[in-house]
Amino acid sequence: PATLGVMGGGQLGRMFVHAAQRLGYFTAVLDPDPQSPAGLVSHHHIPFGYTDKQGLAQLAGMCAAVTTEFENVPASALQTLAESLPVAPGAAAVAIAQDRIQEKSHFTASAAESGVMAGVSCAPYAVIETPDQLQAVPADLLPGILKTARMGYDGKGQMRVNNAAELAAAWAELEGVACVLEKLLPLKAECSVIVARGWDGRIVSFPPQRNVHVDGILAVTEVYEGNMPSALAARAQAATETIANHIGYVGVLCVEFFLIDDGSEHGALVVNEMAPRPHNSGHYTMDACDVSQFDLQVHAMAGLPLPAPRQHSKAIMLNLLGDVWFDAQGEARTPDWQAVLALPGAHLHLYGKTDARPGRKMGHLTITGADVAGVKAVARQAAAILSLPGFEAA
Ligand code: ATP
Ligand code: MG
Ligand code: MG
Repeated sequence: PATLGVMGGGQLGRMFVHAAQRLGYFTAVLDPDPQSPAGLVSHHHIPFGYTDKQGLAQLAGMCAAVTTEFENVPASALQTLAESLPVAPGAAAVAIAQDRIQEKSHFTASAAESGVMAGVSCAPYAVIETPDQLQAVPADLLPGILKTARMGYDGKGQMRVNNAAELAAAWAELEGVACVLEKLLPLKAECSVIVARGWDGRIVSFPPQRNVHVDGILAVTEVYEGNMPSALAARAQAATETIANHIGYVGVLCVEFFLIDDGSEHGALVVNEMAPRPHNSGHYTMDACDVSQFDLQVHAMAGLPLPAPRQHSKAIMLNLLGDVWFDAQGEARTPDWQAVLALPGAHLHLYGKTDARPGRKMGHLTITGADVAGVKAVARQAAAILSLPGFEAA
């Protein structure tokens, strides 16, 4: 059987490996960590860094195609691989997603090209790469959030600033790296859309996921009809397809949106950022859809047909961070899996990580069911058993 490769050995790589193996593929994981969640379940584990020549040569030598699961794999490594085999997503698309400045220009360009994105814009922002640009920041961007242009995730590399003095101090604390300052928006809600686009340009999408973040980290995803106003849901889906088409994207792409109050009946959509890979907010697709985001990642990279996914169950996903493994006093504990697994429609996913730390993504729990009220009731029970945050805010 052919071997499919993945750059990165985290949980997204692990779930990719599971999906690839179900279709009979062998898999190869490139990750320096000998105990990486994906490396542990893959046929081949190549324990080298992402830019190591020997590791890349081994990966290229054994694979029919390569994808990435880790947002910060150097685009140059993907470029090197692309010289000898199909790589999806490509280096150019990944490079855009790795840099908030390029990403925002891309969103703006997509919007300009297509009437579809009318009414979907970025948060007002300023690029800060030089002291002059810091001085020139318009006062109406404050209070705001200063975000490093590169390498941030789960709210890391971000600081809230209320005034010019705090902004200057925050930029100094970030050691003057390239940043964007975004205006702090009054969020009504957040959502994301996942699409898969093939080599032939065919594109399929999942319905918009409604997301709740706690401390900058995804806590809860809810997906069912009515999770957000239908006019906005359609617009978010169309905007995501436009963004993927605009760069000739191949693979699974997730775009995050904010829903803000602009005085109109349902509010307005603001595009936040994109992830060039399956996304935490799409984990529910494994249990609530006939085709998951990882199945589509396999199909897209391997040049297989992209069936339109169908959601067959209402779903609520609860993220399981390392915090669940500690009680209120900070003492280590074993979560009550017996009680969780007894809940109807509960699907527990654990990523095989052995060292739980607060804030670390250890697993997730998806509750599926035929009706929204029932799913919500079970999710509430699960959240109570595990002391999970975020659900009541949803
Ligand atoms: P991810 O793990 O999703 O990649 P990230 O570190 O790239 O996260 P963002 O998605 O930019 O960070 O922001 C994290 C969260 O912070 C958002 O989901 C939202 O809740 C909040 N946030 C970010 N930007 C703004 C803004 N301009 N106004 C209000 N809230 C914001
Ligand atoms: Mg991000
Ligand atoms: Mg985000």
